[in-house]
Amino acid sequence: MLECDVLVIGAGLAGMRAALAAHTNGAKVIMVSKVHPVRSHSNAAQGGINAALTDRGDSWEDHAFDTVKGSDYLGDQDAIEVMCSEAGREIIQMEHWGVIFSRDEEGHLGTRTFGGQRRARTFFVADMTGQAILHVMYEQLMKSGVQSLEEWFVTDLIVADGECRGCVAMEIRSGTLQVIRAKTVVLATGGLGRVFEPSTNALICTGDGIALAYKAGVPLMDMEMVQFHPTTLKGSGVLITEGARAEGGYLLNKDGDRFMLKYAPSMKELASRDVVSRCEQTEINEGRGVDGCVLLDLRHLGEKTIKERLIQIYEIGRDLTGIDITKEPIPIRPGMHYQMGGIKTDVDGRAWDVKGQWGGIRNLFAAGECACVSVHGGNRLGANSLLDTVVFGRRSGEAASQMAKDMKPTEVSEEKWLKSSEDKLRSLLAREANGDSVAKIRWDLGTSMVEHLGVFREEEGMLATKAKVEDLKRRYEKVAVQDKGKMFNTALIFGIELGYMLDCAETVVLGAIERKESRGAHHRLDYPQRDDGNWMKHILVHETPEGPRLSYQPVTVTRWQPQERKY
Ligand SMILES: Cc1cc2nc3c(=O)[nH]c(=O)nc-3n(C[C@H](O)[C@H](O)[C@H](O)COP(=O)(O)OP(=O)(O)OC[C@H]3O[C@@H](n4cnc5c(N)ncnc54)[C@H](O)[C@@H]3O)c2cc1C
Repeated sequence: MLECDVLVIGAGLAGMRAALAAHTNGAKVIMVSKVHPVRSHSNAAQGGINAALTDRGDSWEDHAFDTVKGSDYLGDQDAIEVMCSEAGREIIQMEHWGVIFSRDEEGHLGTRTFGGQRRARTFFVADMTGQAILHVMYEQLMKSGVQSLEEWFVTDLIVADGECRGCVAMEIRSGTLQVIRAKTVVLATGGLGRVFEPSTNALICTGDGIALAYKAGVPLMDMEMVQFHPTTLKGSGVLITEGARAEGGYLLNKDGDRFMLKYAPSMKELASRDVVSRCEQTEINEGRGVDGCVLLDLRHLGEKTIKERLIQIYEIGRDLTGIDITKEPIPIRPGMHYQMGGIKTDVDGRAWDVKGQWGGIRNLFAAGECACVSVHGGNRLGANSLLDTVVFGRRSGEAASQMAKDMKPTEVSEEKWLKSSEDKLRSLLAREANGDSVAKIRWDLGTSMVEHLGVFREEEGMLATKAKVEDLKRRYEKVAVQDKGKMFNTALIFGIELGYMLDCAETVVLGAIERKESRGAHHRLDYPQRDDGNWMKHILVHETPEGPRLSYQPVTVTRWQPQERKY
């Protein structure tokens, strides 16, 4: 049995930041990741990370207001204040660790203006910001001596008497299961993008931690809020960073009209993401698209700017579509990108309710995309997610290590937990092939989610997807895994991940059917208006023996009363 004070599950930016904070606070930390840490999805972040620095004439209050407005007033304002007021110190910390942020002509840290924001406050490293930060963070982690279990897959959380005491994980190389005992556990397992097909997310973004926490009894919040990014490539759904529009890119319809001038005269292409995605989809639906897409035109930026600041986009255009973006516009459309909802936590990442209102599991923390603090509400602003990972990653690591300081080692029966996890895997491996496959169920799930829980939604379609998910869950109970071996059994892992994805999907659909209004990314054709009277509240989904149960929590408003949202 492995033992530590703080167990961090996930090694993207949230997990690494939590592990570093807990280690600095004197805790013995183990960090687990199903892929090599620098292959976590944080690595794919392109455009940048937000912070309002006062020496730029910016203020964190302005950043907080833009975030509140972007969230369509569903974000909790106390949490947003924490995130925005602590942003500056995180950027400086990362700079000091060695992140080489892009600079302006005078040598100061450069910024670009991202969507839904009135100022240029997005710090960036060309269009590979996530990769640059993740690698530097990993260096810090190596230096710290934190134990990092790489390519280990978590199959179960160990929960007893309402508290989390560690996890069971499989070393993928050998197929061996191990119990990891911990005083406190931080989940930082990232998003669930692949519940939708296509998605900009890596294939590993399967909502594992979200499902594990849900099954263990932690409510999930705002799950209906799913972000469709305005610029994803036709076909593959690969992301074209918002940085492309931040640098001055235009959106055109088939007639060459810059249609955003009509919909959002003030912020145009840089209105918030939910707004731009809806405008694009309207153009496409009303027959002004080009083969199911609209066009992103970057030609006027010139080859020099494109190759300096958008080199990945230049390469993506060339390699995936054969288009030279310096010479031709590129076809794009809205695509699934980000989950605003997740494991309900407080501002220190606690996934349990100190005030006794919503439940949860003690000693369990969550941070990053798997968590819902809630700072993004109905719609996340571009470049606020990396910020969320580092601010709340650090705060969770600090709180988890602080709590562990006062605790004795927890009681864990190694034999019992190993046996229960082994039995589960054995029964999955024992099933005979019945003609259905993990890949087929995954595809049917993803395409149904995009069809009926996309940019526009309505009751009938969502009910069809609900029935579909129920049917897929039944099929999943019988699906067989082809590879019966122990070493590097990725087929087995895909099989387990599919179970996590189905649990996540169920909660997204239930939340979306429940919310009878349009707010942020959740736009219902049958309820097209925002309804503050009835729906200025969060929807929580709880797992119970009788099936999922819904409850509600008020939105915390500190200083910004809801207003009509115009861009
Ligand atoms: C293409 C793309 C571009 C983006 N660009 C930006 C941007 O420019 N700015 C911005 O703010 N946001 C951006 N985002 C969003 C942002 O990158 C993510 O929300 C954020 O990086 C998530 O970080 P994380 O640490 O929560 O999770 P991740 O980086 O996804 O890491 C999850 C970790 O959990 C581990 N894990 C998961 N399940 C298990 C398991 N069962 N067992 C063991 N380990 C497990 C994984 O191995 C991984 O280490 C982008 C997202 C995408 C997809």
